[in-house]
Amino acid sequence: MILAENYRKVLRLIKEAALKVGRSPEEVKIIAVTKTVGLQEVRAAIKLGLTDFGENRVQEAAEKVANIREVNWHFIGHLQSNKVKDVLPAYSMIHSLDRLSLAEALQRYAERLALEIKVLVQVNVSGEESKFGLAPEKVPDFLTRLHQLEGLKICGLMTMAPFVQDPEETRGYFRDLRLLRDNLAKPGLELPELSMGMTNDYVVAVEEGATMVRIGSALFN
Ligand SMILES: *Cc1c(COP(=O)(O)O)cnc(C)c1O
Repeated sequence: MILAENYRKVLRLIKEAALKVGRSPEEVKIIAVTKTVGLQEVRAAIKLGLTDFGENRVQEAAEKVANIREVNWHFIGHLQSNKVKDVLPAYSMIHSLDRLSLAEALQRYAERLALEIKVLVQVNVSGEESKFGLAPEKVPDFLTRLHQLEGLKICGLMTMAPFVQDPEETRGYFRDLRLLRDNLAKPGLELPELSMGMTNDYVVAVEEGATMVRIGSALFN
C-alpha cells in the first residue's frame, strides 16, 4: 500500500535528519495533514500508527473530525474568530494563533467549556505578504498578553517557510524561529513546541529543531 510506503519513508527521513544533528527521532511528531483526503484515508493512517492529524479548513474537516474522535486533531489554517465555536473542543491544538482578538475568542470559549486549549503562535518569519502570522518583533509583546489569558496553554511557535525549489533555502527561516523561541522561553513559558516543516522542507526543519512536522502530500499522494 502506497500510504504505508510513504509513511515508512517519512519516518526514515525524519530519523536520519534527527540523528544527523544529535536529536532523538522521538522528539518529532508527525501531524498528518488530511485536507485533501477523506475518512477512509484517515482510518488507514490510524491503522499505521499515526495519532495526530491536521486540517486547515473548519467546514471541509467537519465530517472527519466529527467521525474520528480517537486521535488528536490540530487546526493549522487561518482561523476566523466566528469559527472558534466549531473548533473547540474538537481540536486539541491550534497552530495558527496570530492575533489578540482570536486569542480572546478562544479564551471565551475555553472558559465556557471549562477546558484548556493548546495554542502555538504563528510567526511570519519570511515576511512574505501572502503569509499569516506575526512579525517576529511583535511576538514578545504578544506572548506577554497571551500569558494573561487563562484557558490558553501556550505551547510554542509555528511557521511556514516560503515554497522554494531547493529546501536548503528554507533553513534560515526555521533557524530564526528556533532562535526566537530560545530567546523568549523562560520559566513558566517554556515554548517546547516548534511546528515547522511540510512535505517540501521537513528534513531541513527537523535538522533545525522542529518538534512537529505537518505533512500532507508526502503521505497521501
Ligand atoms: C497543507 C498544509 C500543510 C501540508 O502541506 P504538504 O506540502 O502537503 O505537506 C502543512 N501546513 C499547513 C498550514 C498546510 O495548510
